[in-house]
Amino acid sequence: MTIANTYPANQTFHTIGILGGGQLGMMLAEAALPLGYRCVFLEDAANCPASLYGQVFSSDHVEAFIAAADVFTLEFENTPAETVARLKKMSDAGEKQGMFPPPQALEVAQDRLNEKTLFNQLGIKTVPFKSVSSKAELKEVSDTLGLPLVLKTSRGGYDGKGQFVVATEADIEEAWKALGDAVSGKGNLTPTPAPLIAEGFINFSREVSIIATRAQDGTIHTYDLVENHHHTGILAISHAPAVGTSHLLPEAQNAISSLMTHLDYVGTMALELFVSKDEKGNDVILANEFAPRVHNSGHWSIEGAVTSQFENHIRAVVGLPLGDTDNVFPSVMVNVLGEYPNLAEVLAIDGAHYHTYHKEEREDRKIAHITLMPNDVAKLDDALQQLIAILPNKMGLDS
Ligand code: AMP
Repeated sequence: MTIANTYPANQTFHTIGILGGGQLGMMLAEAALPLGYRCVFLEDAANCPASLYGQVFSSDHVEAFIAAADVFTLEFENTPAETVARLKKMSDAGEKQGMFPPPQALEVAQDRLNEKTLFNQLGIKTVPFKSVSSKAELKEVSDTLGLPLVLKTSRGGYDGKGQFVVATEADIEEAWKALGDAVSGKGNLTPTPAPLIAEGFINFSREVSIIATRAQDGTIHTYDLVENHHHTGILAISHAPAVGTSHLLPEAQNAISSLMTHLDYVGTMALELFVSKDEKGNDVILANEFAPRVHNSGHWSIEGAVTSQFENHIRAVVGLPLGDTDNVFPSVMVNVLGEYPNLAEVLAIDGAHYHTYHKEEREDRKIAHITLMPNDVAKLDDALQQLIAILPNKMGLDS
């Protein structure tokens, strides 16, 4: 079947090439289809979540992938920066329609030291941090930053992996043993040798994130702040919006807007923030990291916002106007980790929306998410308790 003549006359291209084929790629493709755009994916796992939505090309077939698509984006942060740079160059030469986000966004996001340095340059507050390249330096830094501190690989870490909390001087030896190899690129901690980053340990009161989309003409639409709770370093639950954070929203909006503008960013981005107290006891927000892509803490927006983070990303990438980011109703998004729940039991809960990623069960793997959005917001807490009761992996939410 040919569908070429079913596009509007002014729709000059139709295929989006996505670097990565996980659940984020899958949900981008779900958002692209109603707008008349197809997606193809560059991904080595042939039966990845996105494979149900479009053709998957392995890394041995990069050229065929590039030939198959008109415009490019990514769903996986540790995408090789060279591939992104190449696609940008081809786009600049007029051979393709664009590579969004641009390579510089990925380069900064892939390195925690560069990322936090840029935050501070842009006036975005962070925890105090220092680069660490030797055990001796770690000892010095533990004096200047004070203990406890968090030692992290600056490249390659995700979901809390590649991190060590140095609580007392006695931990320095063990911390160096665990992460020191990353400095020289040994072991499988990081893709390339890079210094570690030591961060002051912060007693934050809450973890929140802000998501925004920037269009090709520079227009930025931001979503409400969302409150996130983690289980063993993996996102477990997001409350959208984060209750009682409206006083922090303007600063968070300014932070993500200045970051996006500085990077000449196009697409959806997430900025993760800690809420803490300053010396006067006022709430402050400190930026931890940004994701140059759609983000797990924005999944609620599929049902909970007028336009989802996925649709807005697609709109930005293909050059369409962005949609309204307002909340429809307050919602809670719960990740399903490791083991699937009984679907009939989930859907019996008022306002439950189920999204499977078609993945095999594996301990603590993100295999689905559920967004709860009952019409009557007073029922949201009840719905959450009912869901927790039937989830095989309760992620500590029942305690
Ligand atoms: P990250 O990989 O930087 O997102 O860190 C994973 C989790 O570790 C965060 O969600 C926080 O809960 C915690 N964490 C990270 N950095 C710090 C810090 N400097 N102080 C206290 N907790 C932290």
